Amino acid sequence: MLFAIEIHDPLQSERRSGRSLAIATMSNRIESFIEWVNTYAHDRGRQAEAIPADPHGRVGTGRFRRTLAWHIARRPGGLVALALQYGHMRTLISEGYGSRSRGGIHDLLDFETARNIAEHLSEVHEAIQDGKGVSGPAAKRLINASAQEHRRFGGLITSGRQAKDLLADPTLNVFENKEACLFCTYDRSKALCHPGRGTKSAAPSLDRCKVNCANIARTDAHAHQLRQADDDLGRQAASGLVPEPLADRLRERAQVLTELADQHDHDRVMAAAGAEL
Ligand code: SF4
Repeated sequence: MLFAIEIHDPLQSERRSGRSLAIATMSNRIESFIEWVNTYAHDRGRQAEAIPADPHGRVGTGRFRRTLAWHIARRPGGLVALALQYGHMRTLISEGYGSRSRGGIHDLLDFETARNIAEHLSEVHEAIQDGKGVSGPAAKRLINASAQEHRRFGGLITSGRQAKDLLADPTLNVFENKEACLFCTYDRSKALCHPGRGTKSAAPSLDRCKVNCANIARTDAHAHQLRQADDDLGRQAASGLVPEPLADRLRERAQVLTELADQHDHDRVMAAAGAEL
């Protein structure tokens, strides 16, 4: 809807081949896209999914890029894709598109990444204040990171300067791996997900996360999610709707999740309010 020449200019697709869109055209297409979404939502009685009118006027390319960055930083899987692609994107974009545009998108990605990390650490800090526990070899690092983030930023990143400061502090490099129900308190020298650990990768490969990595920390919320996933798998296995070999594998996986949750309950530590360990 936004970029496809076949939709917007079907008769001229060859004439525009290889050329980028003008800013004004892009802005018009963003407006058309919003209109299309709203008509679609209205026709199906899904008003809650309509895009509300913006008090600041047309969305334009600047705010559209900001929205894009917000979604990249929070797409399912947390920062997985962003973390994996980040170095690549940062290079590609800053040397290409970003450097030709006003205010490169890499700054927006930095900003949204920092906000996302600050929000996660703030949630951990609040949970600890409420008496919740943390487990795993990196538990102390996670507790300290959350306390430090709270002291320095209070869960709020409001400027590019703050975002840069947060991202520049390696002790605050904390990525949530929702798939594995854990926080990766990333320390490159300890990471097990990089085959060549001597490499300079600035981000963990969350999709290759290893259960015995020294960067793992889990919260009570993660243990709760593990038990929920365990229940789901158990229900699927017992439903009679899956072939027996698959049901066996589901039960095995459920058992692994139960053990991880039990291990969390056994190992969890709590920090006194406001204390660093
Ligand atoms: S293996 Fe370690 S460093 Fe890699 S994603 Fe998992 S916890 Fe993070």
